[in-house]
Amino acid sequence: QIQRALRSFSIPLERLHVMKGHMMQDMCKGLSRQTHAQAKVRMLPTYICSTPNGTEKGNFLVVELCQNQVRTLLVTLYGDGNMSPQMVYKLYDLPEDIMQGEGEALFDFIAQCVTQFLAETISSDTNGSEQYLPLGFVFPFTCQQTQLDKAELLSWSKGFSCSGVVGKDVVQLLQKASQSAPSQPYHVEVVALMNDTVGTMMTCSMEGRACEVAMVADKGSNCCFMAEAYLVETTDETSGRMCVNTEWGCFGDDGTLNDVFTPYDESVDEESSNPGEKRFEKMVGTLYLGELVRHTLIALTAEKAVFTGTNAAVLKEKGVFTMQHVLDIVNNEDGITEVRRILETLGLQPSERDCGRVQQICRAVVARAATLHATGLAAILSYMCQTRDLESLMVNVGVEGELHAGYPRFEEILLSVSRLLSPECMATILPSRDGSGRGAAMVTAVALRLSAQRRVVDEVLAPLRLSRDDLVKVQALMREEMERGLGKETNASASVRMLPTYVNHTPDGTEQGDFLALDLGGTNFRVLVVRITEDGITMASEIYVIPVGIMQGTGEELFDHIIDCIIDFQTKQNLVTQMLPLGFTFSFPCQQVGLDKALLLTWTKGFSASGCVGQDVVQLLRDAAKRKRHLGMQVVALVNDTVGTMMACGYDDPKCEIGLIVGTGTNACYMEEMKNVGTVEGDQGRMCINMEWGAFGDNGCLDHLFTHFDKVVDESTINPGKQRFEKLISGMYLGEIVRQILLVMTEKELLFQGKPCPKLQTKDIFKTKFLSTIELVMGTVMGTPLLTMALVRSSNGLALRQIRAILNELELDASFEDSVLMREVCQTVSLRAAQLCAAGLAAVVEKMRENRGLNQLSVTVGVDGTLYKLHPCFSNNLQKTLKDLAPNCNVTFLLSEDGSGKGAALVAAVADRAAN
Ligand code: ADP
Ligand code: MG
Repeated sequence: QIQRALRSFSIPLERLHVMKGHMMQDMCKGLSRQTHAQAKVRMLPTYICSTPNGTEKGNFLVVELCQNQVRTLLVTLYGDGNMSPQMVYKLYDLPEDIMQGEGEALFDFIAQCVTQFLAETISSDTNGSEQYLPLGFVFPFTCQQTQLDKAELLSWSKGFSCSGVVGKDVVQLLQKASQSAPSQPYHVEVVALMNDTVGTMMTCSMEGRACEVAMVADKGSNCCFMAEAYLVETTDETSGRMCVNTEWGCFGDDGTLNDVFTPYDESVDEESSNPGEKRFEKMVGTLYLGELVRHTLIALTAEKAVFTGTNAAVLKEKGVFTMQHVLDIVNNEDGITEVRRILETLGLQPSERDCGRVQQICRAVVARAATLHATGLAAILSYMCQTRDLESLMVNVGVEGELHAGYPRFEEILLSVSRLLSPECMATILPSRDGSGRGAAMVTAVALRLSAQRRVVDEVLAPLRLSRDDLVKVQALMREEMERGLGKETNASASVRMLPTYVNHTPDGTEQGDFLALDLGGTNFRVLVVRITEDGITMASEIYVIPVGIMQGTGEELFDHIIDCIIDFQTKQNLVTQMLPLGFTFSFPCQQVGLDKALLLTWTKGFSASGCVGQDVVQLLRDAAKRKRHLGMQVVALVNDTVGTMMACGYDDPKCEIGLIVGTGTNACYMEEMKNVGTVEGDQGRMCINMEWGAFGDNGCLDHLFTHFDKVVDESTINPGKQRFEKLISGMYLGEIVRQILLVMTEKELLFQGKPCPKLQTKDIFKTKFLSTIELVMGTVMGTPLLTMALVRSSNGLALRQIRAILNELELDASFEDSVLMREVCQTVSLRAAQLCAAGLAAVVEKMRENRGLNQLSVTVGVDGTLYKLHPCFSNNLQKTLKDLAPNCNVTFLLSEDGSGKGAALVAAVADRAAN
């Protein structure tokens, strides 16, 4: 019989695995919006989104409503990693009539405790000036919390039943009461309300080691952990993490634990004040373990397995066997003298064998309690590991409570069993002391740190956040500059040059032939051969390097090098015997005077070869061919890359009459009416205009938009004061802008816990592609989820690993919160870029619509550029903003494939077609 009883307390490993699975399912149920209401494991959001980082400092007041008592506590933190907080506390007995009286009286009583406490404990040497004192309220009842400082009481428990409180915000009630009982010279403000489990987690977070799980193994049992915020569907928070209070004591209330309940558990449950509820808690909470032993002994006595021949009637009395008795018996290692003494004080007359058996039972009961805690913990660890898409998880677990403190094997069982059940997770146990008090102060401190930090972050980022009015203004300014650029007289002073391209037609699909193309001015210099046939376009190309020495050497060296590359290419492609027409994509601002005649206005993008500005680039290329005696090509057209992009897309979509580039730089072109182009003779038809919009603002018209960061970035370029619009938008600069913001944020101690970050001082160390990686993690486009949750899950882990890699590369010791803030910075910068680009495009499409006298314009934009193509939100943000700014234009975006190659050939071909 004894063996049978002992066996019933030991749960096989396979069964624990099943139980862990159930717990995980229940956790998901509790978090999901649809199933939350019915879930047994409630998974309550706490609105605590950060753990302490050790920089918290100041005085914090805590009020804890306990059973029969109010505890007030003053905690002083020194910003020293929370190693040595100073604490003073006081307990006030709570009269029974208040616990069951009017709600107002309860909160008035609490407020008076605070006033009295402050008067007694702090010597006021504040010479009369008011002092702000934040208060954390530990309120251990079931609440519907909707903010850190907003929680409606759902129901009283633990002997409380004050009237007029259920359904009310208890934070407000306390705040009101403390206003009517002021504690001069202190201004007390309730900033956080929390449950005691959360406090445990918060006390265990010391400098350099965040504690992200906490377990209270006490009279009741509960656990909380930092969950990915987007999984907490009962809140709107989607970014970062939030502490979730599992309320796992109710696990099993739907029957999932029925097969592991022993008859003794059933007896405990039946005798309890809430039969059928909190089934998990009743197997593990110290309020019940003594009872469990008692009921086991009653049953065994009836079966004559213990206390035979003696009177054991005393066991019938509820509560005689306390947790302390159980622990004393369990922990008594040598002999049974102590066990006997304890049983005798209870009025039993145990035999030696009885003593041994009682000890076995007690050990089985507490060991099971520890094992079940471990199973719950394993479920949480595996859940965290899975939802963070990690292969393995290392985490600190704060533990507190009578079972933990009183049962030496508790930690050992907790670790070994959770390790068996969740081998992918590695938990480190951190014992906590006074979680509810000290921890509550921490929660309060963290909340204040975060709100102060939020204010400064908003201050730093505010100049980068553009309103709709700002964008409308940019659109109008762009329109103004476009007109000036097109006007014969005004062109010279316009910042947007509106250069004629001598391209009058977009492709119509009848073009044919073999062409050479050059692409200079992008990331790579390439030579291509393009074959246009009735069946479509085929291409072959090769990338050649232009050494920096040549980029910044003499013009002759540069063009000689280009001819060498062409010769090499034609040789490799067996094209030396033919004389091929060549289209030259030259992505620098040129004053074009014919299709094959273009004066370089200025170098951009790092080029500075001497003797070229003001010269005809086509002639420079022809001269070099002559010097090299190369006869296998004939330059027929010089093409800007925007024009190439428009032409390449135009081959597939006849509505494509705009070209847009958002890569290293940014620029756009579009089909303008010849009659509007004051800088070219003739009024018939249209001509493609290369806007060179990157220079928009160089005349100062955008000065009001430039932030400190933009100015610093501009000053460090080789062309300060130039290409100002481009420097707000394109790939060459966004990473730099982000870097400048991060530097300021580091200086303001908003990042990396205020530690300096020397690597960030290096120019260009923060690449624009990092923005893409960082923003992809749970990316949102203006608040709407970009990725479905399934995609988020699969991409999240990878992206997080990539972020890690980036941060390592930058030698940044970034916490999770640092990376959340970094993402906000990246989002702000890339959103602004997309919005400004949209404002520019809005001016273009609106002008085209007006040109054509249409109420509604349908037009396609051919787009190229890695930033546009690879950034997760840029194109969405651009299109959304454009729709808003130009509602009468229906704009389609078509990605160009190799616009500069294909486009240059098509320009050559269209010219050919038009000539014939
Ligand atoms: P170019 O404009 O010189 O022809 P690209 O269109 O390829 O060349 O653009 C290159 C630019 O794109 C680089 O300046 C780089 O900053 C940016 N970039 C590269 N990869 C990414 C990425 N994954 N996300 C966003 N931007 C990127
Ligand atoms: Mg390009």
